[in-house]
Amino acid sequence: MIDLLRPINKHIIYPLYYWKNGDKRLKRLSELEQSQYLSEEDLNQLRLERLQRIVAYAFENTVYYREIMLERGIKPVDIKQLSDIEKLPVLTKSTIQDRMEDMISSQYPREELIKDSSGGSTGEPTVYFKNIERHNLRRADQIRHDRWTGWDIGKRKALIWGAQRDLKAVQSFRENILSTYVERQWELDAFEMSDSEMSEFTHLLENLQPSMILGYANALTLYAKFLTKNKPDHNINLDGIVSSAETLTEEKRQIVEQAFKCKVLNRYGSREVGLIASECKQQSGLHINAENILLEVVDTTETAVSQGNGDILITDFWNFGMPLIRYKLGDVGKVTNSKCVCGRTLPLLGSVEGRSGDFFVSDKGDKIHGEYFTHLFYELPEVKQFQMIQESLDLITLNIVESNPIQSKDYLDKIIEKTKNMLGQNIQITPNFVKEIKPTATGKLLFTISKVNK
Ligand SMILES: [Zn+2]
Repeated sequence: MIDLLRPINKHIIYPLYYWKNGDKRLKRLSELEQSQYLSEEDLNQLRLERLQRIVAYAFENTVYYREIMLERGIKPVDIKQLSDIEKLPVLTKSTIQDRMEDMISSQYPREELIKDSSGGSTGEPTVYFKNIERHNLRRADQIRHDRWTGWDIGKRKALIWGAQRDLKAVQSFRENILSTYVERQWELDAFEMSDSEMSEFTHLLENLQPSMILGYANALTLYAKFLTKNKPDHNINLDGIVSSAETLTEEKRQIVEQAFKCKVLNRYGSREVGLIASECKQQSGLHINAENILLEVVDTTETAVSQGNGDILITDFWNFGMPLIRYKLGDVGKVTNSKCVCGRTLPLLGSVEGRSGDFFVSDKGDKIHGEYFTHLFYELPEVKQFQMIQESLDLITLNIVESNPIQSKDYLDKIIEKTKNMLGQNIQITPNFVKEIKPTATGKLLFTISKVNK
């Protein structure tokens, strides 16, 4: 069926609507479409200018950044190359909570800023502010990366998403018109995914024929499994899928790609800074949204790692309302030095490996995913339940519920040996034989907990 509204939306409704509202997303989009193919040299020059601009602005207009720079004897002119950002300290969520008032720019009256907060899987909400221009320009970032799936303005898009749910109840008539006729975007509720709901999804998607779906990795996987089992011959014909907000393992990617018969592109973003990085159709790493943010992957000394993984820090080039410089999001990423064959010069992030709290830290500073230790307990009949906690860099507590308390403890030797091989020979491992292991306050039963890498 020919979608007559598509060209009308792309060439008339969409541009007219945003032009009328003074929103510069399309102008910005055309700049981004070009800058992604700049020579590396030109791209780096553009990024350096933007970094210098936000650092100078923060120094001039916020109490916090002026204070921390003066304390270190740094002036904005000391930022002569991108890596000079390492002269500034890392910004943690707790610093934002403590110093928020001092981080807000003196150029902006509070009522001109948008207040927002991020929940995050760590459970501690971070309140922050952004200027409205930054907020609107983010849309251009998203459109550029969405187009990598084959979708384009004018084509329909479906979201399997839950974050909007609280808004949905109060969505006005105007907002409905906006999402249906301007954005051409339909939301499916990721919080309600029973079999009957998923049958409804299928019915809706077959009727709508969207070009792309954007969804949580786990919701997409759940739905893909449902389709494979109940309607493998569905008539949903997508250009591509974007998976976001949760870790997309290769196994999940395969399940979704096979069910929908199209590529699944992984994306990484956060509420505070928007789109951070996403895959193109080559799927060989995530292109960083490099004209708009600076992404660093750093070790425990807050300097760049040249290989392997580390903590992700983000500097937002455009949030003048409340500058975020070297902001530690709490995620661990892996660097890569390879280049993508698609021709875009936007640098690559190898992968996003999980939340910082999921990782144990060795005496050399290497980060090892908790999953490694979980595997040590596979097929051990002696252990009914376990929980490994890294209390500090040199101490591990190992809670064990044994199948039979009078059995030999020989099985422990291997676990201790393999743990020491990963974390360092000097680490102390204290076994604790307990009757039960209780779930956390949120009801999750955690097998591994790291207290050293928050
Ligand atoms: Zn590429």
